[in-house]
Amino acid sequence: MKELTVGIDIGGTNTKFGIVDRQGHVHFQGSIPTTDFEDFKDFFDGMADSLREGIAFVAKGYKVVGIGVGAANGNYYTGTIERATNLKWKESLPLAKMFKDEFGIPCVLTNDANAAAVGEMIYGNAKGMKDFIVITLGTGLGSGFVCNGVLLNGKHGFAGEVGHTLVNPTGRSCNCGKRGCLETYVSATGIKRTVYKLLADHLEPSELRGISFDNLNTKMITEAALRGDVVAKAAFEYTGRILGMKLAETVVHTDPEAIFMFGGLAQAGDLIFKPTIKHMEANIMPLFRGRVKVLPSALSNQAAPILGASSLVWDYLDKHVGETVKV
Ligand SMILES: [Zn+2]
Repeated sequence: MKELTVGIDIGGTNTKFGIVDRQGHVHFQGSIPTTDFEDFKDFFDGMADSLREGIAFVAKGYKVVGIGVGAANGNYYTGTIERATNLKWKESLPLAKMFKDEFGIPCVLTNDANAAAVGEMIYGNAKGMKDFIVITLGTGLGSGFVCNGVLLNGKHGFAGEVGHTLVNPTGRSCNCGKRGCLETYVSATGIKRTVYKLLADHLEPSELRGISFDNLNTKMITEAALRGDVVAKAAFEYTGRILGMKLAETVVHTDPEAIFMFGGLAQAGDLIFKPTIKHMEANIMPLFRGRVKVLPSALSNQAAPILGASSLVWDYLDKHVGETVKV
């Protein structure tokens, strides 16, 4: 019987899931609105019902062997989601245990950036690599570090929070409570803040002038830059410079073969990759110069978070081959 895993991506607006084989083919896909549930238990029950439907759909010839969950503030060790800023439930949510109890199969939970890193290793451009970093550029900046083929979790499950390392001690306020964190500059929100700053400081005409902060998005900034908009181009250059300088610092910790960039901002292509690579190389310790590749993720599509989450289970099973899996 062929094996499948479930990948669940818990987002602030929607929770998406897919039932996936080892090659990364999604056999069934579903979603429920995260925001519709006041009570966490009701959300879980809704999710479990949808999942049962999916498992029944793929039942013929297949066996679902585990569940992987990627979520902001997901903790690999405890299997809980802790005080996620994007969810309304602020208590510690023991999701991995609840899925194990409900379905009688292993459940692995981690934060969304770590799930993306394992997804890249199992299905994506990091296949065969043992040392790499994945940077996810969404509303914030997440990162996952793989060293010697193993995802770094750290003592408390929070390893690799590059998004909250310092760029400027008197800089922009961050959601984490600090100032000047990388993600306040390099993320979908960060580049919007930069556009607004540039519009305030300069008088050049720009098609982005007059667009409200809430309506502005990465795609609009990308398209404006491609049309030659001076402010949009300057915003990408500034974002890439800050990211490149930070990556030059970051590589000395783990000596990666490659850094993969994932998410909406990464889809701007050369607009973000060129300045990032230029400033990384200009600031890197000479020993590393020309040796660390900066590449797009192979998982830059709709199914990526699901694939990332499902890959956690393959990784877990591969590392526990021959063991009786405790549920
Ligand atoms: Zn921060």
